Amino acid sequence: MLGCMRMDSVVGLLRDLVAIDSVNPSLVPGGAGEAAVAARIATALRAGGIAVELTDVAPGRPNVAGVIEGRAPGRALMLCGHTDTVGVEGMAAPFDPVMRDGRLYGRGSQDMKSGVAAMVDAAVRVARNGGLPRGRLVVAAVADEEHASAGAEALVAVHSADGAVVTEPTDLRVATAHKGFEWVEVETRGRAAHGSRPDDGRDAILDMGRVLGALEAVEARLEAGPTRPRLGRASLHASTIHGGQALSVYPDRCVLGVERRTLAGELSDVGLTEVERVLSGLAREDTDFAASARQLLTRPPHEIADDHPLCEELRQILRRRGLDDAPTGMSFWTDAAILGRAGTPAVLFGPIGAGLHGPDEYVEIDSVSICRDTLIELIRAFC
Ligand SMILES: [Zn+2]
Repeated sequence: MLGCMRMDSVVGLLRDLVAIDSVNPSLVPGGAGEAAVAARIATALRAGGIAVELTDVAPGRPNVAGVIEGRAPGRALMLCGHTDTVGVEGMAAPFDPVMRDGRLYGRGSQDMKSGVAAMVDAAVRVARNGGLPRGRLVVAAVADEEHASAGAEALVAVHSADGAVVTEPTDLRVATAHKGFEWVEVETRGRAAHGSRPDDGRDAILDMGRVLGALEAVEARLEAGPTRPRLGRASLHASTIHGGQALSVYPDRCVLGVERRTLAGELSDVGLTEVERVLSGLAREDTDFAASARQLLTRPPHEIADDHPLCEELRQILRRRGLDDAPTGMSFWTDAAILGRAGTPAVLFGPIGAGLHGPDEYVEIDSVSICRDTLIELIRAFC
């Protein structure tokens, strides 16, 4: 009977983490931030006798890291997950971790408090069951992944390892690659004038229409362009647009936000270069056309070799457990790219779920325990 069964410690921790609001305040003004959820994680790690560091990466927004030192030299393994979530628009009870039909619902249940609970519980169980014979384990729960990755940037300045597992949700698959991205802002400049005076006005919104048409052609070229195994093709899309003051006024300004998803081998400013080429082409056709572009943010794509010892150990464990060990790629960007760029090769491995960033987010509860148990085996095999 369910009522008589003791709940797996990882599920108890996951419920606590989902119940704590940690919406990223840089994404959603007024968001709660990571302080309370980091404190809960620190408590769990300390209860396992693990030394804990809390480091603010912005005011009131801490990373939490636990370190287990082995009794003999060996390899260092890092487990890394983010504690922030996106906003909760459209959700009736985002912080109420309802368990139904083998699933646990709530904001962050899939992305990625389940992965964080799995890695924290794995470390605690290793610490309680004889500790680490050799090597070193770093468990890092970082802030701000959903915005600018201030947490991962601060983490890699202090900690490195011979390999890392980022426990983002991969449906218990080994993910070895994901795309990068670049955000570019485009501004067209017109001349404000009364709507009845076409000779005085210049329509910045219609000018942006020309830009959009040309960007559609860029996207069509990308659609027909090269692909990468496990990732598919690069892409570009228009994300946001603002312009105009009133119906009877020629708009003097229009601002477009563009996102470019990148593949390994592409430059970090490939999107800006494509947009600038579009703008200079339009300026050649019409000397009165005035526009400029700037890069807002760029994040590298990520890859780890299939024959990296970390991938091989993890795949071996999955095979022994009868799980799919074929490497895969993820569509979304993660902090693994920041770890990899800083010299810590990272693989992605996390629980099964769906609905991330949507109103019906959930994780399959059994997969969180399996993820935790797999991580324990990996810690013992790799360190
Ligand atoms: Zn995530």
